[in-house]
Amino acid sequence: MILIDGKKIAAELREELKKEVLSLKTKHNKIPGLTVVLIGDMAPSQIYVRMKEKAANEVGLKSEVIKYPESVEEKTVLDKIKELNKDHSVSGILVQLPLPKHIDKQKVIETILPSKDVDGFHPMNVGNLSSGYDSSIPCTPLGCYLLIKKIEPNLNGKKAVIIGRSNLNGKPMTQLLLKENCTVTITHSKTKDLKSECLKGDIIVAAVGIPKLVKGDWVKKDAIVIDVGINKTENGIVGDVAFDEVSKIAKALTPVPGGVGPMTIACLLKNTIECFKRSN
Ligand code: NAD
Repeated sequence: MILIDGKKIAAELREELKKEVLSLKTKHNKIPGLTVVLIGDMAPSQIYVRMKEKAANEVGLKSEVIKYPESVEEKTVLDKIKELNKDHSVSGILVQLPLPKHIDKQKVIETILPSKDVDGFHPMNVGNLSSGYDSSIPCTPLGCYLLIKKIEPNLNGKKAVIIGRSNLNGKPMTQLLLKENCTVTITHSKTKDLKSECLKGDIIVAAVGIPKLVKGDWVKKDAIVIDVGINKTENGIVGDVAFDEVSKIAKALTPVPGGVGPMTIACLLKNTIECFKRSN
């Protein structure tokens, strides 16, 4: 079984991005910039933002974090985004989710210029991705896609089963694999007999949020299994895949942690550089 080492593959990607930033700097005499807006003091968001900032600095991007208290007015945030939209030193804008209840998430997403939307959540980017046009692609599915391609460069005609239909993960993952000529089944909480759907997959991507949902006898021999789940349990962080069982059957599997997570952050940096390139 191939243990898909997301940490190592993400480090290789960051190394490539670092070189690209240097060459962009030489060519344009400026560097791509990522601005993250963080609202409130929720511990996981703070940790994610710190990790993003550290990774951005590591590859030589200009990075900035704008912090607001939980009580900040929606208008203040929207005005700041409009200001960042006009700022030529800012290539990418990310507003860390989740947001406090009084702030309309969709309004925030739609205020970010599509060309600076490093998360790929703006409806224009969502539409472009599903139409097969150039767009920002949400970082986690993009990371999963790159991991799958490392194992199997030619996905033509493969059967892919996606578990979860969120805008963040399942839906964009579906689009990326359709573009690669996979036959994609998207499953969700109302799917009848998830096990038999999974058994058809040459590729399985689990993005659910239920610890160890995907069992060993749900997986076809030689399947590539990508575990997006991050679930806090008494025994630490586990994925949506029963690792011990599935690792005995699958051809390749991502660990949790150390699989998809590091790729998500590396892809955010990649998206920032792509936004810079499109605008220059
Ligand atoms: P979500 O809650 O928005 O969506 C979950 C999806 O799972 C839904 O579409 C739902 O229909 C489906 N689902 C729920 N119960 C199911 C069941 N019993 N059988 C089949 N499908 C079922 O979640 P999300 O934001 O897509 O995140 C999913 C998981 O991925 C979470 O554990 C989250 O923490 C993790 N995540 C990881 C990363 C990363 O970088 N590794 C990034 C984002 C999210």
